[in-house]
Amino acid sequence: MIQVKNLKKHYNHGVIKALDDVSVDINKGDVMVVIGPSGSGKSTFLRSLNLLEEPTGGEIIFDGIDITKKKYEDENGKTVKLDIDHLRQKMGMVFQHFNLFPHMTILENMVLAPMKVRGMSKEEAEKKALALLDRVGLKDRAGAYPIQLSGGQKQRVAIVRALAMEPEVMLFDEPTSALDPEMVGEVLDVMKELANEGMTMVVVTHEMGFAREVGNRVLFMADGKLLEQGTPEEIFEHPKHVRLQDFFAKVL
Ligand code: ATP
Ligand code: MG
Repeated sequence: MIQVKNLKKHYNHGVIKALDDVSVDINKGDVMVVIGPSGSGKSTFLRSLNLLEEPTGGEIIFDGIDITKKKYEDENGKTVKLDIDHLRQKMGMVFQHFNLFPHMTILENMVLAPMKVRGMSKEEAEKKALALLDRVGLKDRAGAYPIQLSGGQKQRVAIVRALAMEPEVMLFDEPTSALDPEMVGEVLDVMKELANEGMTMVVVTHEMGFAREVGNRVLFMADGKLLEQGTPEEIFEHPKHVRLQDFFAKVL
């Protein structure tokens, strides 16, 4: 579904290599968990996938198109401009800090993009939004403002708000890192359910339990490089790279 080839993101003329030649294939239905120390390039990797960061080298082939190029040839050989908004519709993103609009109710947050970007009627968008909120047990909070919700509730809203756009893949950047410990579980449960339904997901997280239990592939990054990848069993039971062994010694 997404082929990442020799992806690079350099700053200061290559002095900082936030991403240094990362290559990986993301397949439909993958739950790919990205782990690694602070500053290792995890967020840069994730943000590059939907072009929130512009890579300085390499390719990202998404549904057959290299999205790092501003233009591409369609099936008729015609040169077409890449539509970043359309691309981002296909990739839902959930951040550490929820990013809900504070001056809008939960329902208004939910229907904004489906109405504006997908041209859904208000009625249709609201019906869909309420069904999604119901899924995460928050239908009765539709009229509340974000400030009236707990962190865990806000993050559950952020997840279903992304789902309202019917993305092909969901990107999560430390979705539970800003939460009080007692709220981490409720958010991970929603993510686990999504994974079980077959959603393709790329998840940056420090939740090793989630990586092990829900991930089907784990990537370990350090210094902008993808140092090791494998199944959760391979990574957790038989870490090869000394950097990965050190990392586990600190976090497990
Ligand atoms: P964390 O676990 O702390 O979130 P991370 O693995 O997500 O870390 P990134 O945020 O991707 O790491 O950063 C990778 C590297 O790129 C870091 O060394 C960071 O300082 C550097 N970097 C990120 N953004 C910029 C920027 N705009 N200018 C210069 N360097 C940057
Ligand atoms: Mg990060």
